[in-house]
Amino acid sequence: MLLFTDLPALTSGTLLQLPPEATRVQYLLLDSRRVGQPAGSLFFAIRGAQHNGHRYLPDLYQRGVRLFVVDRVEEIPGGKLAFPEAGFLLVEDSLVALQALAAWHRRQFEIPVIGITGSNGKTIVKEWLAQLLGSDELICKSPRSYNSQVGVPLSVWELNATHTLGIFEAGISERGEMVKLAHIIQPTLGIFTNLGTAHDAGFPSAEEKVNEKMQLFAAVDTLFYCRDHDAIHRAAQQMLGPARTFIWSRQHQQGANLGVTVTEASAERTVVHVNLVRPRVEEYTFTLPFADEPSVENALHCLAVLLWYAVPTAEIQRRLDRLLPIAMRLEMKQALNDCYVLDDTYNNDLAGLTLALDALARQPRRGQRTLILSDVLESGQPAGELYARVAAQLPAHGVERVIGIGPAISEYQHLFGAFQGAFFATTEEFLANFQPEQFRHETILVKGARRFEFERIVAAFQQKIHGTVLEVNLDALVHNLNYYRARLAPGTRLMVMVKAFAYGSGSYEVANLLQFHRADYLAVAYADEGVELRQHGISLPIMVMNPSPDSFQKLRQYHLEPEIYSFERLHDYLLAAQDQPMPAIHLKLDTGMRRLGFAEEDLDELCTLLRKKAPQLRVASMLTHLAGADEEQHNDFSRQQLAAFQRMTPLVEAALGYSVLRHALNSAGIVRFPEAHLDMVRLGIGLYGVEASGKDTAALRPVSTLRTIISQVKKLPAGQTVGYGRRGAATDFERRIATIAIGYADGYDRRFGNGVGEVVIRGLRAPILGNVCMDMCMVDVTHIPDAQAGDLVVVFGEELPLVELASRIGTIAYELLTNVSERVKRIFITE
Ligand SMILES: *Cc1c(COP(=O)(O)O)cnc(C)c1O
Repeated sequence: MLLFTDLPALTSGTLLQLPPEATRVQYLLLDSRRVGQPAGSLFFAIRGAQHNGHRYLPDLYQRGVRLFVVDRVEEIPGGKLAFPEAGFLLVEDSLVALQALAAWHRRQFEIPVIGITGSNGKTIVKEWLAQLLGSDELICKSPRSYNSQVGVPLSVWELNATHTLGIFEAGISERGEMVKLAHIIQPTLGIFTNLGTAHDAGFPSAEEKVNEKMQLFAAVDTLFYCRDHDAIHRAAQQMLGPARTFIWSRQHQQGANLGVTVTEASAERTVVHVNLVRPRVEEYTFTLPFADEPSVENALHCLAVLLWYAVPTAEIQRRLDRLLPIAMRLEMKQALNDCYVLDDTYNNDLAGLTLALDALARQPRRGQRTLILSDVLESGQPAGELYARVAAQLPAHGVERVIGIGPAISEYQHLFGAFQGAFFATTEEFLANFQPEQFRHETILVKGARRFEFERIVAAFQQKIHGTVLEVNLDALVHNLNYYRARLAPGTRLMVMVKAFAYGSGSYEVANLLQFHRADYLAVAYADEGVELRQHGISLPIMVMNPSPDSFQKLRQYHLEPEIYSFERLHDYLLAAQDQPMPAIHLKLDTGMRRLGFAEEDLDELCTLLRKKAPQLRVASMLTHLAGADEEQHNDFSRQQLAAFQRMTPLVEAALGYSVLRHALNSAGIVRFPEAHLDMVRLGIGLYGVEASGKDTAALRPVSTLRTIISQVKKLPAGQTVGYGRRGAATDFERRIATIAIGYADGYDRRFGNGVGEVVIRGLRAPILGNVCMDMCMVDVTHIPDAQAGDLVVVFGEELPLVELASRIGTIAYELLTNVSERVKRIFITE
């Protein structure tokens, strides 16, 4: 048992203030948004480039958290006396203290611990090993891919006295990081998966990168790796030598502990013949249930460990057969009756459940939150205690209804008495009693262990759709957000444009993510878009760019801030403000776009009016918009616009008698005019993965993938035609054509017809044949002989960039994105 008063000795800190009672430290908390159980939680106020944990102390205190680690006394808001019941530990650096505490915790256990690093496959190898060794060992492993400087301490903290094996992954992006992780994980065994090009930026050379990663293994008894990565082999032999390495290889079997030869590879499986030196050579054949190269490599790492562990070979095969590809992504899916389903049907242990609950809690949608939960497969804990712990977590995560499925959870259903809900012994029983009308406007977390086959429940919740979906990768979105954030000076605020259904991506989901990642402002085109966001629980300030007078009441009711761009609008607004206070406004200044806004010659009149009416009105910001921010040829004009803005804004401020935020730049402008970020920037298309200046395209990740399916494949004999107007013709030879389930009513532009557009099927491009119809179109798949009904078709996405497609029909990526019709279902993915 660890007490708060034990911490100074473990972290070289000093106690600034003691809580009224001796308090046990049970949970480590880094993110103020993820308070599970306030009692026993120790919050580390960590400072990073973009954020400062100290800022969240009042919020945490209000929610019942009492134990805090801080590294700047002066940054405790209001000082420690504002938190009379809190304990404060002052350390030199909160992150270092967290790591020291985790390292101390690790030292309490003398069990084997496998440390895994490498460029790819860490998480999969970890999860698979846990599956493969799960029947022999009680395993503690990193949840998901918790492998960073903060993720590793949290993972190791989960170790307890019942565990017989730890499996933790370590990921780094800079020099000096691995030593710290090694100190926390203290691995006794290691796996170096492979070496790719990821995160190269932080390392001057490939050699340096491999040596840095090797730091994880400095103290291991045995390191497993594949000899076919030369750089890994060199570094491993230099550091550990043959006695402390277990080498497997396909290309250099001479001298390897395990030689692997692939003897058969089909679409579903790979058969390998292995020579194991132990020390006599033994020979075996195994079948891996995978065909793709990354999975085969990952499975071979696991096989090496299992053979080394001397698991009987027949047993190894039996376990390999049950190995499943891992759905690493938590997917949020639109479902029936305006519900959303968070699909997490892969495994269900306590750590994974906590993460999934966090994801659920982060959804600020109105409406009920429901949890559909299978038996929790947690090794080594009495079931009563386990389900009591599960139930205790739920209120803080906003769960109101619990549907339990499985014999164990059903047995302990009395522990869930505080929730509405129902219990079923099996998934079949739940499905047999499934009544869709009982679920409305809710967010439903479906969390089940593999063998409960909860994917059948998810399928039941998903409306029948016509096969076309827009997949929105929220991780890519966050990546892009951070790309732009990194370009801003610390004080510069970020407004994100979520107009037009967030450029087609789904406004509420994107807004929600932006709120979570602490954007400062959102902007929409119309009041109704803002209302919709508010109804889904978005509380960020929202600017409405095109407010009509008949929407002013809504602006007031939902606290939406209008952009005011003309005297007419300003007079209307002042009129409305006579009766009741109205939200602050944003003044649009026209410096050359000649679209909306007050021009320089309007300023006198505007200032006079503002001076007179200032008490009735609050101006939150002034903005202007560049007409050619993305193009070099307009640079002079852009600078003139910016100069005009700089001339105009002080006059308005003088009239108002206070200063207001100023902002001028869109996505392209952020990259191209760093000197003009001013107080805020307005990020749009860049967030959605299109780098509008064209200079740094590779730095962004594509966010949206529009995909559909093949409905039918047929032959088109020479001389026949396809579709309306008989435009698509098989001229001189017979073709194979596929009809795909997307048409102009889905937003697929008719201009793509007749060979202008292409789609991707089975990795190959296929041109559109004939005219695009309303709900479908036809493509030529003569060169893709395997193409068949049901195949996935990528309409745009990573394989088929938006920018290329847009240029083929003489438009811009913006239009393709925003054209995807609302009838196309959005699926939101996080990795
Ligand atoms: C849409 C919009 C933006 C964002 O433009 P992007 O080119 O998508 O970054 C910025 N400002 C205003 C006024 C806009 O209407």
